[in-house]
Amino acid sequence: MGVKVIIPAAGSGKRMGEDKPKQYISLAGLPLLVHTISTFEKSALVDEIVLVVRKDEVAWVKENILEGNSLRKVKKVVEGGKERQDSVASAIKWLWDTTGENDIVMVHDGARPFLPQNKIHECIHEAQKSGACVLGLKVTETLKMVDGEGMISSTLSSGDIWVAQTPQAFKWPLLKEAYLRAREDRFYGTDEASLVERLPHPIRIIPGVFWNIKITFPEDFQLAEQIIKMGIVS
Ligand code: C5P
Repeated sequence: MGVKVIIPAAGSGKRMGEDKPKQYISLAGLPLLVHTISTFEKSALVDEIVLVVRKDEVAWVKENILEGNSLRKVKKVVEGGKERQDSVASAIKWLWDTTGENDIVMVHDGARPFLPQNKIHECIHEAQKSGACVLGLKVTETLKMVDGEGMISSTLSSGDIWVAQTPQAFKWPLLKEAYLRAREDRFYGTDEASLVERLPHPIRIIPGVFWNIKITFPEDFQLAEQIIKMGIVS
């Protein structure tokens, strides 16, 4: 029974407004993506990583991100697709023949550099038990539905609402089935859980940590530097 991790990092980073994708921008002296991969490189529970990047970046990433930083668990770099789901699908395709029925496959955004080791452990453990587990945070603010004119149409009950993070871990047959079904139905979701939910299959959500942020906008880099300074990142 092994654990494999898919890291989608094939986004264009358009919201960042920089000339290079956010995953290659330096954070505390190392490219953001190196921080993310290193987290799994360090975990004794993870056997293998499949990294997904844009087609024209594959050779550069192998040399500058992987070899340059001795990231040896990345066994394959595959080309990403148009949407995040297409990128994860190309990693799944590559894993198809070499992954066992009892293996766990975990997906984690390349743009989330601060995942703690104990959360990797908890997520894998829960996926082994129940088949599917995602990290998330319970919403504490009041949430509003807003119409196209900027007017509030209703209030959601925040007690039942969580924000999904990654990693999201699944028993391999479940993830495979969810991606096959989504492709057949031409369904696109923004995370793996949304594809598994529609099988349907129950998914456990466990508390993540607030500093497991997804770097999206330029100001997130400043926040990330502050998080490093706080000394809470393992
Ligand atoms: O766009 P967003 O920030 O939600 O992307 C989450 C992760 O998915 C990022 O690490 C990004 O590089 C990756 N991604 C991808 N292929 C795409 C779009 C996003 O691998 N087509």
